[in-house]
Amino acid sequence: MGPSLDGAGAVPGSFSINQHQVKTTMPNRFKTALLLGAPGSGKGTQGKILGRIPGYFHCACGDVFRNLDIHSELGKIFYEYSSRGELVPDDVTVRMWHQSIQSRCATHEYKPNSDLLILDGIPRTLEQAQMMDDLVEIYAVVHLVCEDEEAMIDRLRRRAVKENRADDADENVIRNRWKVYEAETKPVLDHYNEEIIYQVNAVQSPARVLHDVLEVVTPIQESHFAKFMG
Ligand code: ADP
Repeated sequence: MGPSLDGAGAVPGSFSINQHQVKTTMPNRFKTALLLGAPGSGKGTQGKILGRIPGYFHCACGDVFRNLDIHSELGKIFYEYSSRGELVPDDVTVRMWHQSIQSRCATHEYKPNSDLLILDGIPRTLEQAQMMDDLVEIYAVVHLVCEDEEAMIDRLRRRAVKENRADDADENVIRNRWKVYEAETKPVLDHYNEEIIYQVNAVQSPARVLHDVLEVVTPIQESHFAKFMG
């Protein structure tokens, strides 16, 4: 069932009738669950699966960067930082991500009034988290936990071969990515209320991890978007 034409003004998901115009009302902030974890913890694998389920939209910041034209100014900035295993500066990252998500709204690929946004790889620093507070409403932070650095590094090595990723092909770059995660991304957890942080063991079969992630996000998706189900 679609949204009702009841002229209910600023209620997200309703239409407001304004003179002879009908316009959709966007929510002030995107309703979101974050996937947070070290490189190789499986955020992308889980995010991609969730993104195939109606009612969820997966956005991986790394994919947004990789889709840039490598010869564009932003593409060059991305290559410069990622090839060293470093993070792209916060302001560039958040601006680029915001533009990308807005254009995906405009094309109706992402429907903020009916999809729970699954963010993967952003925010990745405390500063990004602060910059994004006005843009996203975070209902859950799913922390994919893996304390075993060697196991994750081994996963990244295998992925580098499979996906032809330059940033994971070099052992030093992989180790640097892990260090950057510990120093810059882990502190993002402290930015959010601990009541919305869920720890999921990332060292299980992908299906078991998916099961645990779904246990967290399903009730959130249902309570915020159930009215749009068929
Ligand atoms: P992974 O999923 O393996 O952790 P990503 O594909 O998410 O890696 O990111 C690849 C690279 O893109 C990062 O090493 C970094 O250079 C850049 N990048 C991605 N997301 C961000 C972000 N939120 N902030 C800064 N840099 C980012």
